[in-house]
Amino acid sequence: MPDTKLTIRCSALPILDKCMGMLGAEMTIDQSSEVAEIGTEVHAYAARMIREGQAPDTMFMDPEIGFLVNAARQAWESIRSDYTDPQVEQHISFDLPKFLLSGHPDLYSLSASALRVLDFKSGYNAAAEVLPQLLGYAYLVLANHQEVRPGTVCLQVAWLRDRDIQDWTFSVAQVREWMRDLHKRAAGWNGRDFTAGEHCRYCPRFHDCPARSQLARSAVVDLMALDSAPKTRGELAPRMPDLYAKVQLLERLIAAFRDWLREDLTKHGSMDCGGGKILQLGTRERAILDVRRGWKIFRGALDDDELADCLSISKTALLNAVAAKSMPRMKAKDKAAIMLALEEAGAVTLRHERFIQWTGEKPEEKEA
Ligand code: SF4
Repeated sequence: MPDTKLTIRCSALPILDKCMGMLGAEMTIDQSSEVAEIGTEVHAYAARMIREGQAPDTMFMDPEIGFLVNAARQAWESIRSDYTDPQVEQHISFDLPKFLLSGHPDLYSLSASALRVLDFKSGYNAAAEVLPQLLGYAYLVLANHQEVRPGTVCLQVAWLRDRDIQDWTFSVAQVREWMRDLHKRAAGWNGRDFTAGEHCRYCPRFHDCPARSQLARSAVVDLMALDSAPKTRGELAPRMPDLYAKVQLLERLIAAFRDWLREDLTKHGSMDCGGGKILQLGTRERAILDVRRGWKIFRGALDDDELADCLSISKTALLNAVAAKSMPRMKAKDKAAIMLALEEAGAVTLRHERFIQWTGEKPEEKEA
C-alpha cells in the first residue's frame, strides 16, 4: 500500500464502489471516456451555453457533434428553470481520512430547497453505472457548503444520444451515509481482496492489478469453451455482455503486452530467448512521397483527373491548416465555411463504418 494519500476523482467512484483494488494504486485515479474527444467538444459547448445564458453561435460540421450539442441544448432548455444558481465545471475537493475526493461536476445548483447536480453524457447509456459519480459530486458540494442544508438532493444524467434525462432523489442524510459506507469499506480494505468483473475494463489500475491474471485466465477459459461447444445465437445472446467484456479485457492486455515488449526491445535491444530464437525490432522500409517536392513531376506525368485519383486529403489536416490562417476568433467560422463550400461542390461524401457498440435500443429490422 502506498504511504501517500490517493486522490480519487468522482468519475472513478463507480469502479471503487465495486472493487477497492484501486486503493493500492500509486497514482491519481481518473477515468477517460471512450468517446473523449467528442465528449470534450460537447461538454465545452454545454458549459459555455449555461455560463453565457444562451446557445453559442457555433457551427459543427461533424454531424455527430451537431446532434449531441443539439441534444444538450434541448436538455438544458427542459431543466434550466430548476437550476436557479447554475455552477458550471467547478473544481471541488474534500479531504477524507482515507483519500482526497475531487471532481468537476458539469453543473450544480445549491439552495435551501434543493441541491441539483447534472452530468452530460455523450456516450451510450448501456446500463452504465453513473450513480456513484453523481453521489460523489453531491457529497463534495455538501461538504464544501456545510452552512446550507438543502431539503432534497436531485441527481440527473442527460443521456444525449438517447435524448433522455435520468434522475434520482435523495436526502442529504442518504448522500452522507452513502459516502460514509464507501469510506468505511475503503478504510477496512485489506489490500489483498479484489472484485474483478466487467468494471475492470475501465479501471485505471487495470495494467498493474494483481488480480488481472485471474481475469485473463477466466476470459480465455470462457472463449475456449465456445470453440469446443458450438452455440446458437439464442444461447449466446444472454451471455454476450459478460463474454464481450472479457474479449475487451483480453484486447487491453494484449495491447499492453505489445507496448511493453516494443519499449523493452527499443531500450535494451534484441532478446535472446534460447533455442536459437532471438526477438528484435525489425525495420521495414516504405517509400513516402513528398508532395511538395514531387509536385512538378506529378503534374508533368498526370492530368488533373489522374492525379486526383492518386490523392486523398485529410479533413483534420485541412481544417487545421485553414484555422492556422484564420484571424483571431474566426477559426470556427472559417472551418465551417470551407466545409460548406466543399459540401456544395459535392466534395464531401459520408462513408459508413460498421462497429460493434452497446445500445439500449433495438435498431430497425432490415427488410428481407
Ligand atoms: S482491474 Fe478490476 S480487480 Fe483490479 S483493481 Fe481494477 S476493478 Fe479491481
